[in-house]
Amino acid sequence: MFWVDIWCGNSLLKLEFPRLFRLAKLKNEMVFDYSNNSGFSKVKWEDLFIRLLLDRELGILSRLTKRVKSVVLVPDLVDHLIWAHDNKREFSMKKLANLLIEGEGDGINFTFDKIWKLKVPPRVRNFLWMLVINRVPTKDFLVKRGVHLRNIMNVCPWCEREQERVDHLFFKCNFIVGFWRRIFNWWEVGWKMVSGFEEFYSLCFNVKLHGTSKSLWLIAIAASCWSVWLATNKMVFERKVLSMDTLKFHSKTRALLWVRFSFDECMVQERLWWLSPFKCRFDSRPVTLGWCYPPHGWLKFNISGMATEEAMGCGGVLRDEEENVRALFSGPCDAIDADSAELGAIITALDVIIEIGWRGTALIIVEIGSLVAYNWLLNKDRRPWSQQTTFADMEMRLACVGEVAFSKAKQHSNEIAETLASAGINRRVMFKAWW
Ligand SMILES: [Zn+2]
Repeated sequence: MFWVDIWCGNSLLKLEFPRLFRLAKLKNEMVFDYSNNSGFSKVKWEDLFIRLLLDRELGILSRLTKRVKSVVLVPDLVDHLIWAHDNKREFSMKKLANLLIEGEGDGINFTFDKIWKLKVPPRVRNFLWMLVINRVPTKDFLVKRGVHLRNIMNVCPWCEREQERVDHLFFKCNFIVGFWRRIFNWWEVGWKMVSGFEEFYSLCFNVKLHGTSKSLWLIAIAASCWSVWLATNKMVFERKVLSMDTLKFHSKTRALLWVRFSFDECMVQERLWWLSPFKCRFDSRPVTLGWCYPPHGWLKFNISGMATEEAMGCGGVLRDEEENVRALFSGPCDAIDADSAELGAIITALDVIIEIGWRGTALIIVEIGSLVAYNWLLNKDRRPWSQQTTFADMEMRLACVGEVAFSKAKQHSNEIAETLASAGINRRVMFKAWW
């Protein structure tokens, strides 16, 4: 921005020319808006102030114009932010923390500290930080910086009415307000309208939750913000429309994965997670239980099928040898009981592998929860007649995928798959994702 960013010399023009800044009509304009893409030669400076300048002020103005004209603007180049405190010009949380400790970051308030301590992936922390300082590259932000968005309207993709500004996109849009109400309801926390991130974050931070529950809640909030952002980009750039249900599901799943990653020592009762997470107790996980790493060079797909009296669901999670999640799915399943739902889960897992494009290239273990289904897989004679077509479908896919081994999951080592399966029961369509 012209007055309040460092873009010309080493300080803010606002601080260097305070008198002119006070008189400026528009204080948050972009450099682009002033220069009109033609350098500063055609600017009618006298129109930019609330009144005619006095002689002394004209003197100051000529110093300002001399200064800005010394900067060469490259109109075709997309602007990007650089981090002035780092030699490589890259933003880093560590450096920012040091600056804060040294007391150089007086303008940055306490929110930073709370965000920095969140147990979420670093790029999500960076993203939240961008939200705090209003630097998230929304369409509105990009257009103001002179980026030409071809064929993309500068409106909020959710309601297609308002401009896509950060406060609208994340907090004020009717659709998003509905989303936050549901997320807050999920934790039985009261929602109230907020005007921006500061207010939103203090609302979230001041809820009456304590200890681990509070950390989990904040992770869920971070996951929801991140999911809104990813969904927005999907809608804008890939024209994929996400329903409220899917957005909520993405947020909950993402949060659960982050919780599992950060609270390894705790066992979150995952079934409770989907309904009322604040009721989860946090028992210590016995050391010998839990997910087992696949052999070197293999990936492991944990799958599960679940049944209630009315409906069946299946779910699965693919992890590499470092326990990174690479794919997951969750959705309804056409089956007659839990064991046949397990077969449906295997078929969906194979479909995911084929869709990712790994056929023939990866070594994959499919780990299943049901002993009955496992015995069917090992022993062709035991397969019930009613399942013959399902097995034929499976064989066809197995022939495409390449090397697949089956194993039976030990107790407690198949939890995420089970959770995804029980969540799948209530879903209308199959959700699949990989990265
Ligand atoms: Zn909107």
